[in-house]
Amino acid sequence: MDKIYDMIIIGGGPAGYTAALYAARAGLDAVLVEKVIVGGQMTQTMAIDNYPGIPETVDGYTLGMQMQQGAERFGAKTRFAEVTSVELTGAIKQIHTDEGLLSARTVVIATGADHRHLGLAEEESLIGRGVGYCAACDGMLYRNKTVAVVGGGESAAADALHLSKICKKVYLIHRRDTLRAAKAAFDALLRQENVELILQSEVVGLQADGKLQSILVKNRLTGETQSLDVQGLFISIGRDPASALFAGQLELDQGGYIRAGESTETSLPGVFAVGDVRTKTVRQIVTAAADGAVAVHYAQEYLQKNPLA
Ligand SMILES: Cc1cc2nc3c(=O)[nH]c(=O)nc-3n(C[C@H](O)[C@H](O)[C@H](O)COP(=O)(O)OP(=O)(O)OC[C@H]3O[C@@H](n4cnc5c(N)ncnc54)[C@H](O)[C@@H]3O)c2cc1C
Repeated sequence: MDKIYDMIIIGGGPAGYTAALYAARAGLDAVLVEKVIVGGQMTQTMAIDNYPGIPETVDGYTLGMQMQQGAERFGAKTRFAEVTSVELTGAIKQIHTDEGLLSARTVVIATGADHRHLGLAEEESLIGRGVGYCAACDGMLYRNKTVAVVGGGESAAADALHLSKICKKVYLIHRRDTLRAAKAAFDALLRQENVELILQSEVVGLQADGKLQSILVKNRLTGETQSLDVQGLFISIGRDPASALFAGQLELDQGGYIRAGESTETSLPGVFAVGDVRTKTVRQIVTAAADGAVAVHYAQEYLQKNPLA
């Protein structure tokens, strides 16, 4: 019979590598499968300041490598491959990758989520050079500078409010004539003298010279376009979880996140969802890492209760 791992971890972000660390230290025969680059979403930022135990600002690529090395110190294994389909219902879970089939008794899904992008030319190349998706993470980089936030929901309003306390000026740009955010959030924004709402408008272009210099904003009613000098643009128009592979097998919530509570147990026995891909309120490195540890605890319990026949 082909090799059967105790655990396959899908995704090499902070949630996946914490699961790999705990699994290795628990003596489980586990492998982590990552399709692109170790570190996950963290690799998109040059400055992480809110992960405990890091005395100085660290870039996400370095922190990701350190998480991998920390897990591999105890024998964790990484395979670079893309998981293309899964069969999760049986006692032996089948994970198909573009490098072949892997089998395991438990699966930890750590595939993360990605912020929705506007799809503008230059947007990808300016991430970390003016374009950002997380005001709580990167806002401090724009202290006393002028920034814009795109979006009209709760998180866009919260981002604009957060930035108004750090930045000199904040434009909040939304496609519709009113924000979708709750009235309380809206009123709080209106009280900030340095926040300017630009409604019925969308960002149609980015102008950069290595770093973002200005944005082009088009009024959807008049068709007029204006250029705004900003050093930062925060795009806050929602997120998409990387859960498509699991639809039809696992319960997903309305936003497409895998339904799993604090125990990280999903609707199928032996399958755990950790980090940004699962239903939760706060999606940060520290909460993703915490999930990885919790999943291994419950996976060990599952393995003990369900020995191989
Ligand atoms: C620009 C930016 C800045 C941020 N800054 C901070 C910050 O300063 N502080 C903070 O706490 N949080 C920050 N965050 C949020 C933080 O990065 C995430 O909450 C965290 O990375 C989630 O970790 P995760 O392991 O759940 O998923 P991810 O980091 O998304 O990792 C998922 C991994 O799974 C892999 N994967 C997906 N599908 C497959 C597949 N089919 N096969 C194999 N591999 C797959 C992906 O390639 C990826 O490497 C930031 C996010 C962004 C985008």
